Amino acid sequence: MIDNDLRSSTEAEVVAELRKRQAFVMVSHVKPDGDTLGAGLALGLVLKRMGKRVQYFQQDPVPRNLRFLPDAQFVAGEIPADMPPDTLYVFCDMSDFTRAGPYLPKIDRANMLDVDHHLGNSHFGALNFVIPTECSTGTAVMRLLREMNAEIDRDVATCILTTIMTDTGGFMHSNTTPEVLELAGQLMRAGADKEEITEEIFANKRVAATRLLGRIIDEMRFAHDGRYCYSFVDDAMLAQTGADGEDTEDMVNVLRAQEGVEVAALFKAIDNEIRVSLRSKGRVNVQAAAARLGGGGHFRASGLTLKGPRDDAFAAVDAALSAEGL
Ligand code: 5GP
Ligand code: MN
Repeated sequence: MIDNDLRSSTEAEVVAELRKRQAFVMVSHVKPDGDTLGAGLALGLVLKRMGKRVQYFQQDPVPRNLRFLPDAQFVAGEIPADMPPDTLYVFCDMSDFTRAGPYLPKIDRANMLDVDHHLGNSHFGALNFVIPTECSTGTAVMRLLREMNAEIDRDVATCILTTIMTDTGGFMHSNTTPEVLELAGQLMRAGADKEEITEEIFANKRVAATRLLGRIIDEMRFAHDGRYCYSFVDDAMLAQTGADGEDTEDMVNVLRAQEGVEVAALFKAIDNEIRVSLRSKGRVNVQAAAARLGGGGHFRASGLTLKGPRDDAFAAVDAALSAEGL
């Protein structure tokens, strides 16, 4: 059943495989967000209801603002030793399995299911359910749940609505289509509490994080006639403010929101590497720019990791963005 071309598997093919298997590990990407966790939890909840065994693997801690998700307390950094050999590993929201991080044991391709919505997904699984037109991996999972005729209860609806609100930036990004809003309405009717999700994800900032945002804004720089805004955070700024790396997740959006800015970058020089988050307002393809430097993501949101001095990282990213027409 190995896919050698880049054809996406159909809903029917994936669901047939899900029905066949008895044990699952839902795998989420490093530095997890509401999409990678919500998508895996939603599918895991339904599979458990069908009597299957389900574990959730995540090498990092679940971020504070996502601990409200149903079943989040079962997400763990280890896989039980007694999982059967034909356990299916379901990778949610990652363009390649390496995004699961170095602590995931080696898994046969025959036991990998790839569920994703990224451009440039490497189709690393035996089955690859990759739908780049979906706003979130969670809405791709929703297609599978429909195919299974699964009941969408309050917990499943909460997980899926969280994936939507995370990846549309609270219904603000361009991936917020009429269909997405209609689905969000259905999920609310199924019991998902939009207010609760908003509060948990977007209105739960720590004071230390807000002070760090102030420092990032102090360091904001502009280039390319004001079309490019970038800033950085380093270990010293974290120590000064008491914030941690998790607090930096969505701060790049503040840079992107400045008048006249087309592309924003936040350089996070933490623990001897520089994680770069890129955001575009839609003209420049930041997925292509990140891919030039070994990263990836979406047209309007991407990321990459560099080593070495900060000024070299600034120059490398500027060159990649320039090559993509900034
Ligand atoms: P963020 O800036 O929030 O870390 O990432 C933005 C988007 O780019 C996300 O969709 C994420 O999956 C993707 N992304 C971030 N870092 C990497 C990376 O190192 N490699 C790849 N392939 N994608 C990344
Ligand atoms: Mn996503």
